[in-house]
Amino acid sequence: MVRILNLGSINIDHVYAVDHFVRPGETLASLGYQVFAGGKGYNQSIALARAGATVSHLGCIGEDGRWLVDRLTKDGVGADLIAESDSATGHAIIQVSSSGENAIVLHAGANHVIDEAALKLALASYGPGDWLLTQNETSSVANAMRLAKAKGLRIAFNPAPMTDAVQDFPLELVDCFILNETEAEALSGGETDQAGEALRARYPQAVVVLTLGAKGACYLDAQDEVHQAAEPVEAVDTTAAGDTFTGFFLASLIAGAKPQEALALGSRAAGICVTRSGAANSIPFRSELA
Ligand code: AMP
Repeated sequence: MVRILNLGSINIDHVYAVDHFVRPGETLASLGYQVFAGGKGYNQSIALARAGATVSHLGCIGEDGRWLVDRLTKDGVGADLIAESDSATGHAIIQVSSSGENAIVLHAGANHVIDEAALKLALASYGPGDWLLTQNETSSVANAMRLAKAKGLRIAFNPAPMTDAVQDFPLELVDCFILNETEAEALSGGETDQAGEALRARYPQAVVVLTLGAKGACYLDAQDEVHQAAEPVEAVDTTAAGDTFTGFFLASLIAGAKPQEALALGSRAAGICVTRSGAANSIPFRSELA
């Protein structure tokens, strides 16, 4: 059985409805408040588990994040490798104005205290045939790639959110990039309309999966270039669509599906996600895709 270790963020999103963004020196009463579980890593672990994959989450929370670990466990995600630190759980303070714009303060918190000791402990029971999945919302991503590759794992990387630091990661170790066009362009230095090909030329060891929003997704390897249209649905909220696609695509590919089948499954799942509002709660279960 192939196992996936997902080194990823765990966040709490505090969302405030406001008349306008708070100004310097102002105390502003919010018009509404909601709390959501989030973080790209958290969402992708849930998507993998709902797609039927065997996944353990490697991450870190503060005391205020225990409820998120409970939710991962309920979804069937292995949570033994999630540590608790003195730092606050990663969180975002999100103001949503009456015109629908948002302004966000993000605090990485415990997501940034993951260190080499935690990586080594987590990787102790993983080996050839297993996969490491990671994004760019925690500390130790580059180190995780090196340690995982040395143990014979394959590596899937979703370079989101893109930062300059990603250019210095050992991307020659990545087996599968899953990313959008902007991220592919930043990593390849190529033109947007050729970003997938340019990324493949730069990292020929890897397959590249480009997500294209409402235009669908595209898979590129040495032999194939496979396109998949998006589901013809009315999107109400695209939050977590990319994470849903990543989880379902990867679960399917790892289980032995052909690229076309994996793309189709990822697109069907993401197509359901965009018809629902919310983040992790809008990720479908495998049974909904029948
Ligand atoms: P993105 O991260 O925006 O590229 O989206 C990831 C995946 O979600 C896409 O590859 C599509 O499969 C799906 N998706 C995103 N936006 C839409 C949409 N408006 N309608 C249908 N599917 C979508």
